[in-house]
Amino acid sequence: MARQHDQKNRKTRTLAVHAGEAPDPVTRASAPNIVMSSTFVLDEPVGFSAYDIPEDAPFIYSRWRNPTVQQLEDKMAVLEEAPACRCFASGMAATSAVLFSVLKTGDRLVMSDANYPGTAELARNDLKRMGIEVVTANFSDLNALEQAVTPETVLVWGETPANPTTRITDIAAVAEIAHQHGARLAIDSTFASPMATRPMTLGADYVIHSLTKYCCGHGDAMGGAVLASEEHMRAIETDGQIHVGGVMSPFNAWLINRGLATLPIRMESHEVNAMAVAHFLEAHPKVKKVLYPGLVSHPHHDLAKKQMDNFSGMLSFQIDQGADLAQKMMSDLEIIHYAVSLGHHRSLICWMGTDDLMASSYGLSGEQLAAYREFAGDGVYRLSVGLEDSDDLCEDLVRVLG
Ligand SMILES: *Cc1c(COP(=O)(O)O)cnc(C)c1O
Repeated sequence: MARQHDQKNRKTRTLAVHAGEAPDPVTRASAPNIVMSSTFVLDEPVGFSAYDIPEDAPFIYSRWRNPTVQQLEDKMAVLEEAPACRCFASGMAATSAVLFSVLKTGDRLVMSDANYPGTAELARNDLKRMGIEVVTANFSDLNALEQAVTPETVLVWGETPANPTTRITDIAAVAEIAHQHGARLAIDSTFASPMATRPMTLGADYVIHSLTKYCCGHGDAMGGAVLASEEHMRAIETDGQIHVGGVMSPFNAWLINRGLATLPIRMESHEVNAMAVAHFLEAHPKVKKVLYPGLVSHPHHDLAKKQMDNFSGMLSFQIDQGADLAQKMMSDLEIIHYAVSLGHHRSLICWMGTDDLMASSYGLSGEQLAAYREFAGDGVYRLSVGLEDSDDLCEDLVRVLG
């Protein structure tokens, strides 16, 4: 990975370790301190409105800004090649900060029909209740997307690779369609991580991460991030962060900052492991289909090669009567944990039934449902391939697949 940034031409691995950090000026501590203080002692009077905090304001109150959280924001912005980053208590807090600060009654949101279920439910239920029109489109079908993006469309929301099918969206093409109609594009890039894709360099206006996943990488802290231009970030800051208030704990910021230092080398290993497990599954007689962007058989492999510097560690696979095997996985797997979430050093697997997802989150019918089923069938096992030895992971899968 030899990407170069504006930061004195330093390379990604160096930036992941050092960006946003500096030795403590007083103690000369090499590792960052955690500043847990909720308030800061002031030298001069300050206003109480979120709307007129000057750019160069000191730290005032940790819901507005916190030094430890800011270190993480600075590192994330550098890794994403984005002008600004703000962090939140979870990926959903970051997601809702964007949706609620950008959209108002009467606006139209065009959303990908394959998405994280929490985002899909929030849009379908809460945004609709607030009088926002929500339509879904298959983002792999650019003609269908073009039809969906009307002049009333304010925001287009995509996710790539998409949960749980690993469908890839062409960010540059979707950005062009959105911008032609005066809409902004938000990309949930959680599955890709900043090592695979930097959506703002491809035209996205907002990037959203669940930091709970690859960025933290160890399954022990929740967080979310929004990346955007300074101009777009102002509404996210005042409405999403200061007023809605789902801010990140400094302790979580410190843990995730530590996780980011190893993100480049972890993602390299996730990819190598996922490729090995994907090949093993593809050759297994019981497995009907494996979806991993790194496999030549993936329907969007060429796009993935073009858009991603790393295929990540997320794959899904189908087996006949898949749901029936879930119980055996829960009891017989010795290494892989049967659990939701992803991007951890531990491998995680869970069953995601199509009917269940449709009922709870997507509500697709007709052509859209048919297109979704082409990818996901009746359901898939979503496997987040961790950092264990891939031979041991395949052996674990033999315990349940035979
Ligand atoms: C997990 C996840 C989220 C939500 O993040 P939380 O940190 O759990 O709130 C959003 N999008 C994607 C793609 C995710 O995987």
